[in-house]
Amino acid sequence: MKFYKVDEDTSLSVTGQLDAVNKWCLPGVEPCPVCRLGGGAPWLAYPCVDLSGLPPEVLRKLKDPWPVPFEEFARLRELVRPLAPPWALLEPGTQFGPCTGKGSGRFGALFMQDSSALFLRREVLDRLRAEGVMGLQACPIDVRFRGANPPELLQLQLELHGLLHSTGRAPLRSAPCAACGRRSEAWPEHLILDAASLPLDVDVFRHREGWATLIVTERFVDAVRRLGLDGVAFLELEVR
Ligand SMILES: [Zn+2]
Repeated sequence: MKFYKVDEDTSLSVTGQLDAVNKWCLPGVEPCPVCRLGGGAPWLAYPCVDLSGLPPEVLRKLKDPWPVPFEEFARLRELVRPLAPPWALLEPGTQFGPCTGKGSGRFGALFMQDSSALFLRREVLDRLRAEGVMGLQACPIDVRFRGANPPELLQLQLELHGLLHSTGRAPLRSAPCAACGRRSEAWPEHLILDAASLPLDVDVFRHREGWATLIVTERFVDAVRRLGLDGVAFLELEVR
C-alpha cells in the first residue's frame, strides 16, 4: 500500500475560503519554567466532539486559546476527556465541535484549509464510502455562506497514525524535559514513514507526530481519481 500527503490544490480555480474555527478549544499553556516550551498548536481537531453539555463557566474557558498555567490546562483537559474518543490526543490548543463562522467562494469536492483540516461535500462522503474508502468520520460545519447554493460541507475527524522512520528523523531531538515531559524536535523536510506504524483499515489520518500533516492511502487516492474529485493534491511519501 502506498501513502500520500494531502495538500490543497492551488492550481485550480477553487476560490473557496472559510473564515471559521471549531467551536471550542483547549487553551495553550504558559511557557515551562525549565525548557520554555509553551503555547498551543491549533492542528488537532475533533469536529464530532460535542462539549455543549459541560457547565457554562467551563465552556467560557473553552472558547479562549490564550495560554493558562499548566494545572488549569490539565483540569480543563480532564473535563473534556470523557467526551472525546479514547484514542484522541488532547494537547494545548486542540479544537472541538463544528467549524463555525463564515464562508465564501467556490468550493471543490474536497477542500483543505491551512493544510491541516480536510473538508468534503456530503455527497462526496457517501461516494467515497461506496468506493470502499475506510475510516471516514465527518461532521457538518456551522458556516454561513454568502450567495446562492451554499455547499453542504463536512469536516473529517481524523485519527492519529504513523510515526517517522528512525532514519528519517531530523538530527535535533532533545531529551524530554524533566519538568513538563515535552521535547523539541525539528520536523524533517523529507518525510519517511515507518511502515509498521501505518494503519491497514483507515484511509485518511493525521500524522501522529506531525499534526499538520494529513496522510491518505492509495485506496483513498484511487477512489478520488475514479470519481474525478477535485480540490486537493497528493504527494507520495517514502515508507520504510
Ligand atoms: Zn519543560
